[in-house]
Amino acid sequence: MDAFLKAQAALPSHILQGRYVTQSKIDVFLKDFNATEIGRSVKGAPIHSLRLGNGPIKVLLWSQMHGNESTSTKGLFDVLYYLKQTPALLDQLTLEVIPMLNPDGAQAYTRVNANHIDLNRDARDQSQPEINILFKQYDAFKPDYCFNLHDQRTIFGVDNKACMLSFLSPAADVDKTITPARKRAMGIIGYMNEILQQYIPGQIGRYDDTFNGNCVGDCFQSKGTPTLLFESGQSGLDYSREETRKWFGVSVLAALECIVNELFKPAIYASIPEVEKSFVDVLVRRVSKKDLHSSLAIYFNEVLKDNTIQFVPSVHSTGSLSHLNAHKIIYLDDFCAKNGYDMPAENNTEAVLKMLNLTHYSH
Ligand SMILES: [Zn+2]
Repeated sequence: MDAFLKAQAALPSHILQGRYVTQSKIDVFLKDFNATEIGRSVKGAPIHSLRLGNGPIKVLLWSQMHGNESTSTKGLFDVLYYLKQTPALLDQLTLEVIPMLNPDGAQAYTRVNANHIDLNRDARDQSQPEINILFKQYDAFKPDYCFNLHDQRTIFGVDNKACMLSFLSPAADVDKTITPARKRAMGIIGYMNEILQQYIPGQIGRYDDTFNGNCVGDCFQSKGTPTLLFESGQSGLDYSREETRKWFGVSVLAALECIVNELFKPAIYASIPEVEKSFVDVLVRRVSKKDLHSSLAIYFNEVLKDNTIQFVPSVHSTGSLSHLNAHKIIYLDDFCAKNGYDMPAENNTEAVLKMLNLTHYSH
């Protein structure tokens, strides 16, 4: 893992930066991996797949089925280039990779596809061309493992820390039976957790495992293929998610290492804390002279403008908010003293937002 972390900044994929990752930005990498077109999106954009390795263990990976979840696409290309340079694991593996399953959503920076359908709720209906493409690849490739790669919103924490990465071995049925496939996926997550805890202790979470047959992961798991959900998250002011990207890369490499060397640790899975909706982007404490116990919680709406993602502040909640944590905490009295502003006498959300001018997070 240290070798990967050392190499990461010099990999060709490093030019892929920020949150707005579109098909045209990844096109430049596709030729390095002999990618082939496997179908078209609703709007006719090509969807590609590439293969790496010739080994007996087959892993299907897909990213950006939610168009605005780009961290795993960046991290995935890091891993692919790294494996090309350092191919030891590829003796045992064949990777089939769909780096961008929802190019229309990526272009528009939306979760959904151009028909406004959430592809990860379309496993049962299979009504959308993008999901048909994924299932076609699944049926043809017959993977031994599936990696379903996503980003999570900024609201997730584990215990008192921001959740940088979370994982799920999806349920295969409503009873959440621990099937052999599910146990395998749990074993990989247990191993990844052991590795990641050495680098980002306490920042790994586990997702809720309520069964939903509309979700692709639950569907593949129920077909008997060990399937893992990866969620790249927010930590601190890393709004470009370049930090998370590195740890996402480490997690994928750890998962592959686990599979090749049979290092499964299913017993650890249950000990990973479940993610909680405990974070906001900015928490302003002590918001007025009159009420020093009052707080203002702010979340950012991600808006595509001028080819960048702008983080537009919006009020999440007000009150004592002792249950909330944030990626940034501002004590308004200290902030005012430092910047020569008058502390508001009464609670005044608009005045506080104006004073803080939280417009510098865009990527
Ligand atoms: Zn997602």
